[in-house]
Amino acid sequence: MAQEDGFKKIVSHCKEYGFVFPSSEVYDGLGAVYDYGPHGVELKNNIKKYWWESMTLLHENVVGIDSAIFMHPAIWKASGHVDAFNDPLIDNKDSKKRYRADILVEEYLAKTDEKIEKEIEKAAKRFGNAFDETQFRATNPRVLEQQAKRDVTHARFTKALNESNLEELRQIIMDAEIVCPVSGTRNWTEVRQFNLMFSTEMGSTADGATKIYLRPETAQGIFVNFLNVQKTGRMKIPFGIAQIGKAFRNEIVARQFIFRMREFEQMEMQFFVRPGEEMEWFTQWKTTRLAWHKAMGLGDAKYRYHDHDKLAHYANAATDIEFEMPFGFKEIEGIHSRTDFDLRQHEKYSGKKMQYFDPEVGQSYTPYVIETSIGVDRVFLSLISGSYAEESLENGETRVVLKLPAALAPVKLAILPLVKKDGLPEKAEEIMDMLRFDLRCQYDEKDSIGKRYRRQDAIGTPYCITIDHETLNDNQVTIRFRDTMEQERVPIGKLHGIIAEKVSLKNLLKKINS
Ligand code: ATP
Repeated sequence: MAQEDGFKKIVSHCKEYGFVFPSSEVYDGLGAVYDYGPHGVELKNNIKKYWWESMTLLHENVVGIDSAIFMHPAIWKASGHVDAFNDPLIDNKDSKKRYRADILVEEYLAKTDEKIEKEIEKAAKRFGNAFDETQFRATNPRVLEQQAKRDVTHARFTKALNESNLEELRQIIMDAEIVCPVSGTRNWTEVRQFNLMFSTEMGSTADGATKIYLRPETAQGIFVNFLNVQKTGRMKIPFGIAQIGKAFRNEIVARQFIFRMREFEQMEMQFFVRPGEEMEWFTQWKTTRLAWHKAMGLGDAKYRYHDHDKLAHYANAATDIEFEMPFGFKEIEGIHSRTDFDLRQHEKYSGKKMQYFDPEVGQSYTPYVIETSIGVDRVFLSLISGSYAEESLENGETRVVLKLPAALAPVKLAILPLVKKDGLPEKAEEIMDMLRFDLRCQYDEKDSIGKRYRRQDAIGTPYCITIDHETLNDNQVTIRFRDTMEQERVPIGKLHGIIAEKVSLKNLLKKINS
């Protein structure tokens, strides 16, 4: 399946099965804003619960907050967002399409890497066992030429970003002969900076309204509450504060479905540590966070780290965890060592001390911070695209199945009476009433059993049970497993034990720690 077709299928699957709808669809939608449907909201809530518990249950020194979206406007001045939360944009004069200049160059670099890898794969096939990759990389003229071009562009790009040199950024695009994917031309405008924050007004204009911002990240709500939480929770360093909430960015290029939205949801954790100990904690959180992703079982090879070329003004180390989306490896989580920048800035702008007295060293200091910042929507997309499969069945039919981790699936159990009569629906209801307190169940009596299985496969339900005439005599049902499609006869009394154990979040949480 071509990458693009695969992605289109996932987008339409999300709509057809009640996961994600375009926002305001009856009014033809609103750019890069989406609504979650009945199955989508369940999956999203399960993702959030998985993250929240991984932070606050598994770490007794991580506690949560829920800060307001509206905050004092000085916060965004102090954090640097008013002056520097910009993306470089560039337009193609022929197609009139707008792009992020940095992403155009990053994609060019990724394509060059792919070309080199292809040359190596071809040669490895040709030479078989005798193939020496190191020697090939060092001597093959085509590889050498590509690599040299890549290295020069990469070095210029890093320098241009670090110096915010927009002219040089444009020159790199020209020199690398990057064309607009729509018009195919190199007729580019200048590169300009564009601030991503949305603003609105608080208070009526008569008494002088104040301009305030919709938060572009949840982190600042944590920083300004650092002392409240530390004091009221009697927290000792090292400790963390976790928060889940909406964030807003006026993204320049908002394509790729829920990957890049203008309103999205973040799960962020700021971990406060002693100055000088931040690199150890940075490494530790990198490992823990990757384990969190891998525990979902989509395949370890689908994840990789990507260290930043350009560090944000506040960071002394930064890594992304990337996931292989249908459109390539893309950032899903950022892990940043933010130094003491934010707390110091808030001290400066608010005039209030943000220090911690460390009884172990008998000294006050401004803590350093490791941040883990992840988008709920991007995890959602990774789960749908990583678990979507089209399978051919023995009877010649195909089925579309979402092989979601059982603990995150929107519906855990489908309860299906074989026919709509003879007391089977009543028996099914009885079972549902017994299980509904612990398991999200869905009752379905419409259409053939095959069609009903297909519907459950499509939303990722890990277990289905069928109630047949025999059930009325022997109190047993047939349980059908989504991934293997195997079926087993089990007593009704054992259902809760079998299913509740398998769909428990505990299974994922334990894997992170193992
Ligand atoms: P990108 O480079 O893709 O714009 P970023 O580096 O600006 O992302 P961060 O500021 O590190 O992203 O935000 C942390 C996380 O929030 C990201 O890893 C991502 O999962 C999520 N996120 C950021 N912007 C968006 C968005 N527009 N839509 C959905 N999720 C987002």
